[in-house]
Amino acid sequence: MLPEQTTVLVVGAGPTGLAAAISLIKAGCNDVVVVDGAKEKSIFTSRAMAIHAATLEALDSIGCADELVERGIKGVGIAMSDRTNKLVTPSFDYLASYTKYPFVLLLPQHITEEILERDLEELGKEVLYSHKVVGVQDSGIEGVTSVQFENGSVIEAKYIVGADGARSVVRQLAGVNFKDPDGDNIDNDNATAQLVLADVIFNTTSPVLPLDSGVGSISNQGFFFCAPLPKSEESDDGVPYRVGFNVPLAAGAPPSNPPTEYIQEHLDKVGPVNMSSDPSVNPSPIHIAKTIWSTRFRTHSAIADKFLTKLRVDNTDRDGAVVFLVGDAAHIHSPAGGQGMNLGIRDAVGLGASLNRSIGGESGVLEEYAKQRHERALSIIRLTKRILSFIGAVSSSGIFGGVQATAIWLVGRIPYVRRMAAWQVSGLGNR
Ligand SMILES: Cc1cc2nc3c(=O)[nH]c(=O)nc-3n(C[C@H](O)[C@H](O)[C@H](O)COP(=O)(O)OP(=O)(O)OC[C@H]3O[C@@H](n4cnc5c(N)ncnc54)[C@H](O)[C@@H]3O)c2cc1C
Repeated sequence: MLPEQTTVLVVGAGPTGLAAAISLIKAGCNDVVVVDGAKEKSIFTSRAMAIHAATLEALDSIGCADELVERGIKGVGIAMSDRTNKLVTPSFDYLASYTKYPFVLLLPQHITEEILERDLEELGKEVLYSHKVVGVQDSGIEGVTSVQFENGSVIEAKYIVGADGARSVVRQLAGVNFKDPDGDNIDNDNATAQLVLADVIFNTTSPVLPLDSGVGSISNQGFFFCAPLPKSEESDDGVPYRVGFNVPLAAGAPPSNPPTEYIQEHLDKVGPVNMSSDPSVNPSPIHIAKTIWSTRFRTHSAIADKFLTKLRVDNTDRDGAVVFLVGDAAHIHSPAGGQGMNLGIRDAVGLGASLNRSIGGESGVLEEYAKQRHERALSIIRLTKRILSFIGAVSSSGIFGGVQATAIWLVGRIPYVRRMAAWQVSGLGNR
């Protein structure tokens, strides 16, 4: 049942909203209502598959890491090749002296959400589904806003956590701009402007890869990666693997839910040769037997001008509720390096303590936290752009060959380079 009022309204029960609510309750604020516009939870969409060390540490601080680690695969690294020869293998075991999570946890996003929602329920809080925020009204009280839902109900809140995703209604109602921090054009004509991701099962009973690491290949034909995922209800007939590849704009738009044949064709064209279905290049051909989930999208980055603001409803001179944006509502970028959900969860975990202190009357604490998260988001956006530009430059150069591959192979021998690659992706230097 929706109460008439609350101190904190969390809008959105994706990974970010769930983590924000848990961290707030753990910090001592129990007057929290969590709403989501969807009718029910977790329609199966795999999306984020990687939880990095810094995110696991953050989740551990609110008691949510253990079951995730139990359910996921501890990925030790990703072997990069030029389709045939191994070039470089950034390995997460370098992180062992810095964290108790020296791996990347491979787990589909809907399972992460399922576990976080159960953790929230154990704290006595249920998500109120079918509550889609559509508007706000002046409450007549300084610092309080009436939030309106599509189903006609209303709640008064002093703080609103906008965790409602990339198209955030909360962000729009608060009048906060959302754009690429570098003014880049979404339609950039580059090789990595379109990506395809899919979870697939191969027609072989023996593992396609070692079950604790991924592979990536980069060549003049493009980029491809593949990593194992834990078995789940949707994959009862084999080990599921996440695959991803770029589709240059010149090749046309991929179908909206790319089918198995389309994915197979690209795997054969850009993937590691030893995963090909073509017997002329691979003596033990492998075929994709089933596509569990697939999607295509344009890469795009944007950040909210500010993460913290106060709502002001038209025609009043009163400030309404304080709004804090987290997760995709605050920042989006390409999935290069698997950073999006990680950044959002870390925003959310840290928010609980800061918000609780602010509710307790401490001034400046939320402003400080908003500034810090904005800086973190900018640096992650730029990291993902660097990864994508490197991939784009190599795969569209048309001259990637022996010399370039040897240079990457040589650079990849340097332990510092491998350590830095793992460090950057882990988030430990940019929590
Ligand atoms: C194809 C794809 C692959 C990805 N791969 C990765 C990856 O490998 N690694 C990674 O870290 N990230 C990845 N991401 C990004 C990751 O999925 C997002 O960063 C993450 O889902 C953000 O979580 P969130 O809780 O902020 O938003 P969301 O997950 O979008 O959740 C928002 C919630 O708000 C609800 N909502 C929306 N509007 C309203 C409203 N008006 N009122 C009430 N509720 C509302 C929605 O129903 C939803 O439940 C990927 C994303 C995509 C699309």
